Amino acid sequence: MVDTQVLIVGAGPVGLTLAVDLGLRGVRCTLVEQKEAPQFLPKMERCNARTMEIFRRMGLADGIRAVGLPAHCPMDVFIVTSIMEPPLLHLPYPSVADAKKEIAAATDAALPLEPYQLISQYTLEPFLKSVAEKLSTVTVRYGTEFLDFTETSEGVTARLRGGGTTSEITALYLAGCDGGASPIRKQLGIGLKGEGNLLELRQALYRCDDLYERIPIGKGRHYHVADAQHTFLILQDSTRHFTLHAVVEKDSDMVGQFANTIAMPLPFEMINCNVWRQNLLLADRYGNGSRVFLAGDAAHLVIPTGGLGMNTGCGDAIDLSWKLAATLTGWGGPNLLKSYETERRQVGERNVAASRFASTGRRKWRSMWRPNIRDATPEGAETRANLARVADVEQRKTNEMLGAELGYRYVGSPLIATEAAHEVDDGPEHNFMDYVPSTYPGVRLPHVWLKDGTAVQDRVGYGHGYTLLRFAGTSDVAALGRAFAARGAPCGVLDLADERARDIYGHDLILVRPDLHVVWRGNALPDDPARLAALATGY
Ligand SMILES: Cc1cc2nc3c(=O)[nH]c(=O)nc-3n(C[C@H](O)[C@H](O)[C@H](O)COP(=O)(O)OP(=O)(O)OC[C@H]3O[C@@H](n4cnc5c(N)ncnc54)[C@H](O)[C@@H]3O)c2cc1C
Repeated sequence: MVDTQVLIVGAGPVGLTLAVDLGLRGVRCTLVEQKEAPQFLPKMERCNARTMEIFRRMGLADGIRAVGLPAHCPMDVFIVTSIMEPPLLHLPYPSVADAKKEIAAATDAALPLEPYQLISQYTLEPFLKSVAEKLSTVTVRYGTEFLDFTETSEGVTARLRGGGTTSEITALYLAGCDGGASPIRKQLGIGLKGEGNLLELRQALYRCDDLYERIPIGKGRHYHVADAQHTFLILQDSTRHFTLHAVVEKDSDMVGQFANTIAMPLPFEMINCNVWRQNLLLADRYGNGSRVFLAGDAAHLVIPTGGLGMNTGCGDAIDLSWKLAATLTGWGGPNLLKSYETERRQVGERNVAASRFASTGRRKWRSMWRPNIRDATPEGAETRANLARVADVEQRKTNEMLGAELGYRYVGSPLIATEAAHEVDDGPEHNFMDYVPSTYPGVRLPHVWLKDGTAVQDRVGYGHGYTLLRFAGTSDVAALGRAFAARGAPCGVLDLADERARDIYGHDLILVRPDLHVVWRGNALPDDPARLAALATGY
């Protein structure tokens, strides 16, 4: 008998999401974190639309929104010479309240079910921790450092240090959600490939109570200053806190940098300051292929431009979670956990590339900066116009990557029924910016409203079973139900008499996994339903 079914190392947003999702699925898990408590340090601040859809399925979206940036606050992005002067570029993006109205009125599948949410990582982590701690299935141990592990055919034994003593814990599986310096990745000898240490910046967190209400050019979330220091002011969820990134020599320089940026005599406090480095790195493997898995920054490190760090990690967490739950319940076949690396490493690779695409765009408009940018001369005006023209194309790459967020598709997964002739992938192209809804096997099921006002995604049960969407109520699908039942795997039929949804989805039958990814689609069951059930469940 092991101490816990899954040991999760690291209570960043990814480890916490994994713990909560496993706990909700009834898996006994233990989360260990070396820090004594969540810290008030800034990092990510935007959960993207897909992550919010995931949190909605976990029943957490409203709670996250309640502690995040208020719904009426715009998400605009500005490029400025000073926040006191008319912006060089103003890109408006809807507040959550407005985005929800747009989503409510949508008649196609081009929008997500949930819009983004600005929430600072230092708010998200305590929120997820409080949820995890309420689950009887989850044990949360802060102040507990993971030292190393040994693996046997039956499980994993990890050595932990906490409260002045060293102890051991046994588990069936080990999840390394232990961040960019991942000790678990290092113990496994897994390398990172890509580009490391691309740029070193300082980031500081400030409290400035009056700034948000006083910014004369308008309320937004990001204010990029067109200067030589790459200065970048970011609104945090309270609207009283801000972070500033800049290339300066010393921590103390960040005080003056903030004062210059806000350019108003407002009282402020610099709460902390640290150095961070930009990386575009991907782990060679996402685990050891048996009992140990890596997720989040332990497996991929991106430049935050585009916000694909934590968001990619949350996708890892929910992919791993239902597969672990199904395997522990007994019906998951060997391909289930094997597919974790196949499915998520390609998303990691794609999102590292998307982050490169966005950050190259940002570097491009910043390269248009000239020392005369604030001069009241024809040359100064030309510099401003040139920078704004390039930024109008390039900055959008950071803020409008809905394709990367929603459009990812699991190619070559052993769990997905390929439609390609001769094993050549003929599915929709991956596009970072444009999201093109599709039900091609491997994609996330697009969000569609039904006639009765409910969302198809909400009608697909949470839990670790499969759902067969059936638009033609007469199709006989009993053979597939029997095939899943023979494997002990739950599979329900969701009858939808809705022509618009049928037209958008393009098929009468769509088999969806617990994580909302499409396994298979057709207008009648395949000749061998048992084969489809075997494939979906990992055999
Ligand atoms: C300035 C900045 C802005 C960002 N903005 C965004 C954004 O808007 N959107 C986005 O998606 N991402 C963003 N990111 C990236 C995001 O912060 C990371 O991707 C995210 O923190 C990764 O989460 P994680 O849980 O994988 O790892 P981490 O948050 O690094 O958590 C790992 C945890 O493991 C613990 N740990 C490590 N070793 C041990 C051990 N031996 N024993 C026990 N515990 C251990 C650590 O203490 C830590 O708490 C940003 C990053 C930065 C730097």
